[in-house]
Amino acid sequence: MTNSIRCAKCGACTVVCPVYKASGGLESYSARGRNHLATVPEFARPTPAYEDIFSKCLLCGACTRACPRGIDVNRETIRARSGFSRFYGRQGFQKYLARQALRHPEILGAAGRLGRTAGRLTRRLPPDSGLRLRLAMFEPPAAEVPAAPAPVSRPIPQAAALTWFPGCAAEYLFPEIASACRDLLAGHGFDLVVPEGLGCCGLAHHAAGDGATALALARRNIEILERRPGPILISCASCFAHLRHYRDLLADDPLWQERAAAVGDRLEEMMQFLDGLAATAAPEHIGAAAKRPLRVFYHDPCHLRHEVAIAREPRRLLQRAAGVDLVELPGGPQCCGQGGLFHIGAPELAALIRDDLAAKVLALQPDIVTSTCSGCLMQWKTALTAAGSPVKVMHLAELLRLIAAVGTVDGA
Ligand code: SF4
Ligand code: SF4
Repeated sequence: MTNSIRCAKCGACTVVCPVYKASGGLESYSARGRNHLATVPEFARPTPAYEDIFSKCLLCGACTRACPRGIDVNRETIRARSGFSRFYGRQGFQKYLARQALRHPEILGAAGRLGRTAGRLTRRLPPDSGLRLRLAMFEPPAAEVPAAPAPVSRPIPQAAALTWFPGCAAEYLFPEIASACRDLLAGHGFDLVVPEGLGCCGLAHHAAGDGATALALARRNIEILERRPGPILISCASCFAHLRHYRDLLADDPLWQERAAAVGDRLEEMMQFLDGLAATAAPEHIGAAAKRPLRVFYHDPCHLRHEVAIAREPRRLLQRAAGVDLVELPGGPQCCGQGGLFHIGAPELAALIRDDLAAKVLALQPDIVTSTCSGCLMQWKTALTAAGSPVKVMHLAELLRLIAAVGTVDGA
């Protein structure tokens, strides 16, 4: 049965859709609207208008979770995009280049070095300068956070090796995330090992409907990951969600699907893993009491919130740290509007979603915004730069390392 027939037109998807809301209630940008479009003969073949409509989706998964008919909206959107040109939608060429860069680590590494150099110079630009907003993800924090001294609190005689999938952002763009993950796990007696040859998870290619590249990347990563035994830790929320999907992507190839499932059963989201370690250890609070508690806002990546329900674990890790006051949005978590390459193709909508969330969070007066998705962290850095806010943004691994290393982080 097609989705247009299955769809009850109930509108539950519109209530939770950030794009629908930001567009002022444009029906064609909702899951319900797209289900209807699939029945319109003019859209039997992709046209620029059709491509534009289907590009205006963050693939956040909120509607799939809300849909009473169980319609997998992400799957349908990606299926539609698979028929599009490689340069579909607005800024199609720019998005294509970004996907190419993700396939080639040497380009990504060079971009990271260049970005970090440029990011150090951008503070001289006004907060709303287009260039500064583009480079905000590389901008160092306005007020320096306390430097993390040698973070491993006790010697580890023989660290147990754990396989780690760091993701492109931590590996090539933000080495501070990678070093924080290593230090945190070293504190628990684990040595993180990145198997040689791992590539991009392929999420951006899959989301763009480039199934061939997404499958090639999936097969390569499976091949490499199955060479090492034991759990596979993943520190980026989006990579974690996508690696879990490998078995679905390879559903047409039973042999590969079996291999994907075997690898998939070994995946561990890093914060869930750390929370599990803390739960089995003797109860203790990290750090000493601070003069003023550090106000921390934890941003839920949509991939963790809607797909795997990992929301309590990161919060518990923060609640165990003395001197941390976790602040929450009264209306519950919200999407940040990054959506992989969505923010490139739909900059106005992405900025509306981003700034709406940032205004609500800044009203809570946090000292630090933290998350575990590289895309969300980039979007948050842009959001706070656009708002002219000195609030710091860091990966949760960086924040936990900092708390563990300096005893406490004082908000005073
Ligand atoms: S929630 Fe599901 S059934 Fe309801 S309108 Fe949206 S897609 Fe259709
Ligand atoms: S995946 Fe998110 S952005 Fe896309 S239609 Fe669903 S709720 Fe809207």
